[in-house]
Amino acid sequence: MKLHNAQLQHTYYETFKDQGDLHLSQVVPNGLQEPVLVNANRQLAEQLGLGIEQLDSPEFLQLMAGHVQGDNFNPIALVYSGHQFGVWAGQLGDGRAITIGELEKDGALWDIQLKGAGTTPYSRFADGRAVLRSSIREYLCSEAMHGLGIATTRALALVDSQTQVYREEVESGATVCRVAQSHIRFGSFEHFHYRNQPDSVKALADYVIQRNFPQWVGEDNKYYLMLENCVLKTAKMIAQWQSVGFNHGVMNTDNMSIIGDTIDYGPFGFLDAYDPTHICNHSDNQGRYSFKNQPSVGLWNLNALATALTSLISNEDLVRALKQYEPEFLNQFRNIMASKIGLEEYQPQDEQLINQLLEIMQTNNVDYTIFFRQLADYSADNPSIRDQFIDRESFDTWAEKYSQRLQQQSSSEQQRHQQMQSVNPKYVLRNYMAQAAIDAAQQGDYTEVNLLLEILQAPFAEHPQAEKYAGLPPDWAEQISVSCSS
Ligand code: AMP
Ligand code: MG
Repeated sequence: MKLHNAQLQHTYYETFKDQGDLHLSQVVPNGLQEPVLVNANRQLAEQLGLGIEQLDSPEFLQLMAGHVQGDNFNPIALVYSGHQFGVWAGQLGDGRAITIGELEKDGALWDIQLKGAGTTPYSRFADGRAVLRSSIREYLCSEAMHGLGIATTRALALVDSQTQVYREEVESGATVCRVAQSHIRFGSFEHFHYRNQPDSVKALADYVIQRNFPQWVGEDNKYYLMLENCVLKTAKMIAQWQSVGFNHGVMNTDNMSIIGDTIDYGPFGFLDAYDPTHICNHSDNQGRYSFKNQPSVGLWNLNALATALTSLISNEDLVRALKQYEPEFLNQFRNIMASKIGLEEYQPQDEQLINQLLEIMQTNNVDYTIFFRQLADYSADNPSIRDQFIDRESFDTWAEKYSQRLQQQSSSEQQRHQQMQSVNPKYVLRNYMAQAAIDAAQQGDYTEVNLLLEILQAPFAEHPQAEKYAGLPPDWAEQISVSCSS
């Protein structure tokens, strides 16, 4: 299969084309000037069945830069609305994302979307562009999340250019090719619900079910099943975010995916020292989207989605679906955290053990990723990890209970070590790492982007060439400020 001369189908377009611009707009991308390929994602290309030899071709670069020509493509932008920071924001839509087509692989359909390829009818007063800085962050983070085993949109290619984009200063325009099995957001449903267009809510739900859950097409309760699936997937996704210290930063309902993918990487951050009150988005003054608030915001957002589905699902069933969120989140979170500390199975008394650990990590400013990775080496004979705590005795007190708990297990120390290394990443995309790659790329040097992609796609493995990224962040990392400007 070749991307640049394949007839890319488009089920969304085929489904809604007769309804004028109610659901979508046909658009003409405005490609970047003098594009340069920063990186093409070989791993994803192979998964999609794209011939990787074409990734180095001029046609691929031109296409990824937004020079979308020929009858093979039918670029569209989708409309949606959403609640931003808890407030109804009205119509938003793909202001700088253009879906150029859809690939089929093993029966699944993948949207191929360019972010940053010019304006659409939903751009409002903005320019439809994305700067290199934010594009590098999105590109690396989507692949980092995938490497961590967390549901996410993917990224196929990253292109830099000579196109000038005006933010606080002039920056290079870039594109990211985003790939996902759905780009439908909670806000896509809200859009039609609040316009009193229940037929469109239904048409959109039918489209999602047909495309993503064809096994439910004939079921009487298919809309309920779609919502229940979204509740469960979102609960799992957020439990995984919490377990790796990921702070999304802009959990507006237009940034929440109906299939439970992590979507729209903006001012996200991974925790360095464990601090549940951490706010990664400098525009989030109230801390609505702080790290510790994410699980409850997930439920708030699902409530907004459920409200938008009231014309399709009985109130009783809406409540039944939503009620599954909290137990699913807790179940997922407890199991993951238990396995992070090397327990074969979560038991109710382990909650205290996990909570006490998180408490002393917070008071002692212990680095989240490094601690869990090194805990695999802990034993009564090798307690060196206690040195990560200012108050070493607080660790000793906890470690005594931890050792007792480990003694109840049958696995050997070596088995526990191996199991813990497979769930505790050595590498996450800390802000300073992304910043180092950005600083180099802005000088035309993309080697750091390439290196980071390689290690983040396999974050549980050892990468001797990238040992510098496995340690504590440098002091200058604290000065990095990430805003919504992108
Ligand atoms: P975000 O905060 O990135 O999720 O974006 C919120 C809304 O603003 C979405 O509808 C985006 O498409 C739109 N948007 C953000 N940046 C731009 C831009 N540079 N040009 C056009 N639309 C944009
Ligand atoms: Mg968004």
